[in-house]
Amino acid sequence: MVSKEQIVRWLELTAEVLQENKDYLTQLDSAIGDADHGTNMDRGFRKVAEKLPTVADKDIGNILKTVGMTLISSVGGASGPLYGTFFQRGGMAADAKEELNDEDLLTTLQGAVDGVQARGRAQPGDKTMIDALLPAMAALRAAIAEGKGSVGAMEDAVAAAEQGMKDTIPLQARKGRASYLGERSIGHQDPGATSSYLMLNALLEAIRE
Ligand code: ADP
Ligand code: MG
Repeated sequence: MVSKEQIVRWLELTAEVLQENKDYLTQLDSAIGDADHGTNMDRGFRKVAEKLPTVADKDIGNILKTVGMTLISSVGGASGPLYGTFFQRGGMAADAKEELNDEDLLTTLQGAVDGVQARGRAQPGDKTMIDALLPAMAALRAAIAEGKGSVGAMEDAVAAAEQGMKDTIPLQARKGRASYLGERSIGHQDPGATSSYLMLNALLEAIRE
């Protein structure tokens, strides 16, 4: 079971971890993009952290949709609308719930990831955040089907996201700014796959607490 307080904690931890990893994410984006992914994500989640106290007593769907709108209005580039859609569609899937059971957690995150795919049209192997998110969802689904609780299932999901993130290194980018580099995008870890891993790891930390 994941409580609303743990969801709020997830978002706070995400803001912290993105601030701590701002330079790292920007450095990854400087190799195959325009060196703004760290600043984009930090700016967006700073706004989210400011807004959280005003919505923390609302239901989970409402909280997540507010995060989505905040990201869309404060982050430019590809990642703002994509992560904005992640949280908006996750919020729609969570609906008016005050807590998420294991099935609800799966439904919420699946809705979020489906939203990113619908919006960005990236396929697996295109070297994007999708390459961390899809393996994470497959692992989460399998673990919940096996009867692992939300913490154990998220441990599997985070391990799969981390592997997916590392597996972007040999890929050639076929979506987003990095795709303009063609073969020169090979050999670098995708910044968006990295922020997705960090975000899922923050969720794991929040539900462990
Ligand atoms: P921009 O590329 O506009 O500068 P960011 O640097 O903030 O935006 O984000 C770049 C990240 O966005 C990439 O590392 C990649 O993971 C992700 N991305 C780009 N295009 C897509 C897409 N169509 N679908 C999913 N993710 C994408
Ligand atoms: Mg960029």
